[in-house]
Amino acid sequence: MKLIPLPAFSDNYIWLLHDGQQALAVDPGAAEPVLEALQHCKVQLEAILVTHHHPDHTAGIDALRQATGAKVFGPAREAMPEPLTRVSQGDKLQSLGLRFEVIEVPGHTAGHIAYYCAEVDGAPLLFCGDTLFSAGCGRLFEGSPAQMLASLDRLAALPDGTRVCCAHEYTLSNLKFAAAVEPTNQALADYTANAHALRSRQQPTLPSTLFLERQINPFLRSRQVAVIQAAQGFDASANDEVSVFAALRQWKNQFQ
Ligand SMILES: [Zn+2]
Ligand SMILES: [Zn+2]
Repeated sequence: MKLIPLPAFSDNYIWLLHDGQQALAVDPGAAEPVLEALQHCKVQLEAILVTHHHPDHTAGIDALRQATGAKVFGPAREAMPEPLTRVSQGDKLQSLGLRFEVIEVPGHTAGHIAYYCAEVDGAPLLFCGDTLFSAGCGRLFEGSPAQMLASLDRLAALPDGTRVCCAHEYTLSNLKFAAAVEPTNQALADYTANAHALRSRQQPTLPSTLFLERQINPFLRSRQVAVIQAAQGFDASANDEVSVFAALRQWKNQFQ
């Protein structure tokens, strides 16, 4: 299997997974990069997986469906370009001979979902849209901090080796914030050097892994003492896990 992040717009990735014959695409905000990649790799688009309703994840669906006849899967509770198969928590779908499980992860949007496959060439794979980013998490446009924390907990419960396929290249700016939260985190410093090197060569920092994210992502580390203390430095009233998480998210929103 080949896993390819196709750059789109200024910082989106449309993930393409293919086996040399059939392909699936995740969150096609534009059709052209996918059509070009299908032609280049000489593969047919079998399925489109969609995580949430934002146009930078959905605007290419209609053109791709028309051009390829691909089957579209998307969240049960969001406005989506029809026709599609709507899926929700625990649903399973098959594509490329792989079985993907749907995990509901509300917060960034109210009906956001993620797709998890327990084994692709020896390691699990997660398409998490705008919920979990490397060293960060999505903005809370429609959900509450409590919802987002529960959603991230659901993702963080997946195995260490899970490859995390996020929908945006936000890693460097997230790392700046993460360093402000945990200035003495050595794993974070190491990863930051690595991420800068990748970006200076115009290479993606993704996929990440859950093992790495657990060590460096402040939004997966909101119960660590150092992170709690840093969040309380921003908002002294943050005194339980949800208010600490909310303070972190609020701090990030204002962070330059
Ligand atoms: Zn979004
Ligand atoms: Zn997005």
